[in-house]
Amino acid sequence: MCGIIGYAGDRSALPVLSAGLSNLEYRGYDSAGIALTADVLSVHKTAGEVSALEAILPESADHTQGIGHTRWSTHGPPTDENAHPHTDCTDRVAVVHNGIIENYDALRDELAGHEFTSDTDTEVVAHLIEEALDGGAEPRAAVEAAIDRLEGTYALVVTIAGVDELYATRRDSPLVIGHGADGTFVGSDVTAFLEHTQERTYLEGEDFAA
Ligand code: GLU
Repeated sequence: MCGIIGYAGDRSALPVLSAGLSNLEYRGYDSAGIALTADVLSVHKTAGEVSALEAILPESADHTQGIGHTRWSTHGPPTDENAHPHTDCTDRVAVVHNGIIENYDALRDELAGHEFTSDTDTEVVAHLIEEALDGGAEPRAAVEAAIDRLEGTYALVVTIAGVDELYATRRDSPLVIGHGADGTFVGSDVTAFLEHTQERTYLEGEDFAA
C-alpha cells in the first residue's frame, strides 16, 4: 500500500505535494511522481525515492493544484514510465492510483486505438477518461463514466488540464479529504497533510468527491 496526496487551493501546490510525499514515505514505495495542473499539465516522475523526485522537480511553480503519488508496484516493474501519475494520449488527464484494477486487460483491449506508455493497470483509467471527454462529456461526468467501468480496488485522484477541481474516489482503499484555511487536500492517509488541516472527511464505500 503506497501513498496519494492531492491539493487544490490558494497556495503553491508544489511544496505541499512534495512535503506530503515525504510524509507518506514510511508506508514503503518504489517510485514517486507529481502532476501540477494548469492549462497544460506538468508531470514529473521517477523510479526511486522522493529525494530522487525532488532532484528533478522545478525549484518553484505557480500552480495551485496538483496530485502526487508514491508507488508500490503491482503491475509492471518500478521504472520511470510505470511511476504515477499516468496520463492519456493528449496529456490532458493525470491519474494517481492505489490498488489494483482487475479488469485492466480487457479495458486495454477495448482501448486498442490508444497509445499506452506504461505496463500498469492504472493507465487504463486516464484513457477511459480521455474517451469520455472526446465523446463530449463534462470533466466530472467523464471521470464518473470511467470509474463505472472499473473492477477491483482503488483510491484514485484525477486532475485535468484547465479544470480547477480534483476528482477523488475509492473502493476498498482508504482516501481522506482535509479541509484547510487555504485549500482542500486529499490523501491516502492524514499524515500526508495533517499540519495544514483541522477538519477531515473520510471517504466511505464508493464515495466520489470533487
Ligand atoms: N497497481 C498500480 C501499479 O502497479 C498501483 C500500485 C500502488 O498501489 O501503488 O502501478
